[in-house]
Amino acid sequence: MATLTRVKVLNPAHSNKSTAIFGGEASGILNWNDLAHPHFYTLRQRIRSLFWTANEVDMTQDVKQFANLSKVEQEAFLKIIGLLATLDGPQTVIAMKIADFATDPSVKSIMATIADQESEHNHSYAYVLSSVTTLDKQMVSFEMGRTDEVLMKRNARIVDIYNEFAENPTIETVLKAMVYTTLLEGLFFYSGFAFFYNLARHQKMVGTSTMISYINRDELQHGKAISDIFRAALAENPEYNTEAFTEWIYDQFRHSVEQELIWSRYVLGEIEGIDLDEMAGYVKYRANKMLRMLGLSEIYPEFTDNPMKWIRAYVDNFDDTKTDFFEQTSRQYVKTSDLNGFDDL
Ligand code: ZN
Ligand code: ZN
Repeated sequence: MATLTRVKVLNPAHSNKSTAIFGGEASGILNWNDLAHPHFYTLRQRIRSLFWTANEVDMTQDVKQFANLSKVEQEAFLKIIGLLATLDGPQTVIAMKIADFATDPSVKSIMATIADQESEHNHSYAYVLSSVTTLDKQMVSFEMGRTDEVLMKRNARIVDIYNEFAENPTIETVLKAMVYTTLLEGLFFYSGFAFFYNLARHQKMVGTSTMISYINRDELQHGKAISDIFRAALAENPEYNTEAFTEWIYDQFRHSVEQELIWSRYVLGEIEGIDLDEMAGYVKYRANKMLRMLGLSEIYPEFTDNPMKWIRAYVDNFDDTKTDFFEQTSRQYVKTSDLNGFDDL
């Protein structure tokens, strides 16, 4: 299998329009009005319209409230921030690595924007923790990804697939890395997100949950962008569009859902207000959504709708016409009507 080579920065002998997303030829000059895949322009615009920084979120109330959370809630809070940080650190790097090996300059540009947002997500976890707890506890939370057995088992395949692409970049390994990227963006974060929304619906830690909702919006758009790029790359490399590869993807989704359910029982089992059966349905519903985005079929036909009804107020219906739950800032994220569409994500 041919190894993908790291793309040169500039190659004036080639045309500006790339001949392929990976393994093609392009000059390195990016003209958004002359793209091989014109719809990639919209993907970038949607991501860019979500710009925010962690420091804008007011944590004053959360600082006071954290001490009043139950011990179980405090522990889950620190564990889940640990999980999210473990996922968002590598997301920054994988976006940059995909950019390194992409020939198409529009894909490089989209990945650069995604990498920037992932790095802000990672910063936001440190920002939240430094607001509510001691340095010792912050350190423990950030060590979770390499010390907590359940979390490490849950992340084992992500580690394998991401590192395989890093060590041996080929069309196949980059396609697999993108499948896992959509799993992260569209599924792995969501039981963690639900924990914070559940606190918010009980008027607890609303600052943190606001920040989580901004991260959530970003992840939905990233999932959309990466799955679109995945489909385009697969179409350019039809020899990989096989039954075996499709089965591999379904298998990863089933495995990921199982891992997510083990994790959610482990970390949310004692949290008041979260129904684990409903959570399992929500995770399966997310899996169905991401499979559809990848151009595949749903594997959980009984969960085509979101069974966790209350969570819709927080994330499931983001767009610019509805008022979402978090109104503590006056910022409006998506201003141009033709750039919304969170309902589809
Ligand atoms: Zn992220
Ligand atoms: Zn993301």
